[in-house]
Amino acid sequence: MENTTKKWLKIAAIVLAVLIVAMSATLGGMAAAHYAKVSEVESVQIEYNGEKLNIILMIGDGMGFNHVKAATAEYGDLFFATSADYAGSVTTFSRDVFGPTDSAAAATALASGTKTDNGKVGMYGGKDLMSTTELAMSLGMATGVIATEGVDGATPAGFSAHTSSRSNLDEILQDQLNSGIDLFFGSNSERYEPLKGQIEKSYTYVDAYSDIAGSSGKIFAAFDEIPLAADGESKPTLASLAVAALDILSKDADGFFLMIEESHIDKYSHNNQLADALEHVKAYDNAVKAVVEYAKEIGNTIVIVTADHETGGLQYNGETAAQLSDDMYTKGSHSKADVPFYVFGDVDYDFAQVTDNTLIAKLCQAILAA
Ligand SMILES: [Zn+2]
Repeated sequence: MENTTKKWLKIAAIVLAVLIVAMSATLGGMAAAHYAKVSEVESVQIEYNGEKLNIILMIGDGMGFNHVKAATAEYGDLFFATSADYAGSVTTFSRDVFGPTDSAAAATALASGTKTDNGKVGMYGGKDLMSTTELAMSLGMATGVIATEGVDGATPAGFSAHTSSRSNLDEILQDQLNSGIDLFFGSNSERYEPLKGQIEKSYTYVDAYSDIAGSSGKIFAAFDEIPLAADGESKPTLASLAVAALDILSKDADGFFLMIEESHIDKYSHNNQLADALEHVKAYDNAVKAVVEYAKEIGNTIVIVTADHETGGLQYNGETAAQLSDDMYTKGSHSKADVPFYVFGDVDYDFAQVTDNTLIAKLCQAILAA
């Protein structure tokens, strides 16, 4: 890689301008509080070798820093994602700035680079927002969306649909089937089984893991569950599902964009079930490891690991594995805490320590369009 001409992508200034305008317009007197946070994104830059890059964006729904710390205490080894080439944090606030973001607005910000109202999917002000997935498709790249819940959840929907409410599940499915995205892998087969006929008009419908490899064309896979550990031929882990997706997407000479969500950290954190949440943090980290190893093997691939928001207001004060308890949660809903932002890849980074979630979309889109 030495002697390759380096390209600089200076996108921070754009992000800064967009956010200040958006926040002043809606907040009036409150603008100052967020201005301080937003201005910290100023020095974000990425340097890379100018070759076409693939991007894998991994989202741990509800995973805050304390989830990472508690998982590290529980499992005793270093949380793999923390070995990234860059580690920082991102702010998560939506346009509903007085409360925490929900997953729909956060996914929209991560996918499109635009803040929207809670509940909205890929839309703001009645208009569809272009997602990184759509940009990748317009460039001829392969694309995929993976979630451990049904792919109509708010996070995967933010990367594959446009609708005014996350509860418009039929509209989300219709958008996804019309999207042109190469693969959808998720669970909740109970919902999708009766819709098989509709899905099969544009996708090969798969409900067993062992059937993915032999499938041709666009694949819509719905499993009854995505377990923490491999379970025979039919049920994949998130890590094995990610690898199966990469086997398919990496064949495209134009490159690919893949979004992967571990959906259950949020669910268990809403219920303040720490042990269950941490098992899913661990499963997410296992998937990160598998994905990063794959990315290193094929080269020219950036892996971004983050979360959409923190759930449960989890506190961590150096507890050992034996001391971890559900009482470390302080609420049953999302918090406004910043979340982790890790980047793996053969590029030189000069990111601010604290950035904003919209910047991740702008970063992805700048890299793909470069
Ligand atoms: Zn949630």
